[in-house]
Amino acid sequence: MSMPEVAMAQGGSFSGLAGRTVDIKLQPNYDNRNGWHEILPEPVPANMVSGTLTFDYVVVGAGYGGLACARRLAELAPESSIALIEADRIGNNAAGRSSGFAIDHAHNLRAKSFAEDPTSAKKAIALNRAGLDELERVVKDNGIDCDLRREGKIHAACTDKGTQMLSGFAESLDAIGEDYTRLDAGDLKERFGTEFYHDGILCPHSITVQPAALVRGLATTMPSNVTVFESSPVRSITYARSRPATSHRLETPAGTVTSPNLVLAVNGFAAGWGLYSKHLIPLITWGSMTRELTEREVARLGGLDNYGIIPAHPAGTTVRRLPTNRILIRNQYTLSKDNTALEPQLTRVAKVHRQSFERRYPMLFDVPFEYSWGGPLSLSRNGEGVFGDVGERLWATMAYQGVGLARGTISGKLLAEHILEEDSLLLTEMRAKDRPSRNFPDPFNSWGIRANAWARRRTAGLEE
Ligand SMILES: Cc1cc2nc3c(=O)[nH]c(=O)nc-3n(C[C@H](O)[C@H](O)[C@H](O)COP(=O)(O)OP(=O)(O)OC[C@H]3O[C@@H](n4cnc5c(N)ncnc54)[C@H](O)[C@@H]3O)c2cc1C
Repeated sequence: MSMPEVAMAQGGSFSGLAGRTVDIKLQPNYDNRNGWHEILPEPVPANMVSGTLTFDYVVVGAGYGGLACARRLAELAPESSIALIEADRIGNNAAGRSSGFAIDHAHNLRAKSFAEDPTSAKKAIALNRAGLDELERVVKDNGIDCDLRREGKIHAACTDKGTQMLSGFAESLDAIGEDYTRLDAGDLKERFGTEFYHDGILCPHSITVQPAALVRGLATTMPSNVTVFESSPVRSITYARSRPATSHRLETPAGTVTSPNLVLAVNGFAAGWGLYSKHLIPLITWGSMTRELTEREVARLGGLDNYGIIPAHPAGTTVRRLPTNRILIRNQYTLSKDNTALEPQLTRVAKVHRQSFERRYPMLFDVPFEYSWGGPLSLSRNGEGVFGDVGERLWATMAYQGVGLARGTISGKLLAEHILEEDSLLLTEMRAKDRPSRNFPDPFNSWGIRANAWARRRTAGLEE
């Protein structure tokens, strides 16, 4: 049987999955062009699922949600065995393709909650900050080498429209008592080397990392009761049922895993598992990274050797200047129902990246990109994520609305605490949150998303 249309009951549980077998046709399919992953040393050979194995808990998906959930289950239940199963190499997934900002505010600074609902904005910031603290704790405790820095993010504008948006953002920050520093053209030139930006807001609490190094490090420092499997795509699942009691049974190309308890942290691939196919919006966003700058090019550029720029406009360009003397550009969102980011689209978006790069760094016009890539992220129409029970001994965490480093980490951690019946204020708040709302029926949903992306790009202008 493939892709059953199962009904979602009140609270997000899917009735009808128990005992069913689903062939998972929607599978990850990544290329080898993710710069963050490619510049790391070759990983050790993958530990693949083989034979028939049984664990107390299985977590599928080694992005931020799955990594944090597996770790926390292991910490709270040290006598239990836990498997973390990943389709590809950890670091080549969306988690390792991101721009590496762990941010406390919404990515889109015009997000409704920010301007109109300060209470929700404060709660969202508290959750994200708990995610940042958790990431920082684990990185420090385990000595993970991923260039983690808590130096903040700068929202920067290069047009009047961008400046207007920054002013609106500053008003929202004032309304909720958040600290920030306004930066003028001179400050920005001194930091960035380029004269491209006129106006900026420095928010001091965010973290930047090398994201592929971070997730690889998170996986290799798991507590000893976690077994990490890579290059082991789950191709078919038979969900557990209670009467007569059976376990979940997951088939991979070279082996089978059974467990009474299953956590899904599979990002926009959830639809393939029979979950949330009508609720999540599967988008791709795209990054490009230059080759290493030479000493002469570094001198031509000037500015600091490390910074992160978040665009003032929601369809603008994210930039990272890396201490390894590379520059990263990220922009554009495209709809992809199969979550793939491959040619010929990659060549088209890389051309736009080139223009965005040369506008910002005309002094580096002859520095080529060494890597260009895309990666999936899932959103929902109402901005809410998946968290909690979705079936019998079946839990899920996903749809982090573009802030997966912070939100994915805290959601995964809290999900483990929920499963093991812990209690805390944050967990209570997480349990009380809304779940993703249903999309408009297709083709209206796809038309709407594409029209929205097109209109945003048009209004972004030079901010792209
Ligand atoms: C270019 C780009 C830039 C971004 N920049 C940022 C940023 O700066 N900050 C930020 O917070 N967020 C950013 N994001 C978003 C962020 O990457 C995602 O929100 C985050 O990775 C989602 O985490 P996740 O755990 O849900 O998903 P993923 O990282 O996608 O992890 C889910 C995992 O499930 C695995 N999986 C799926 N199906 C199966 C299967 N059948 N069997 C086994 N495994 C399976 C996948 O291979 C994948 O590894 C960016 C995304 C992209 C693409």
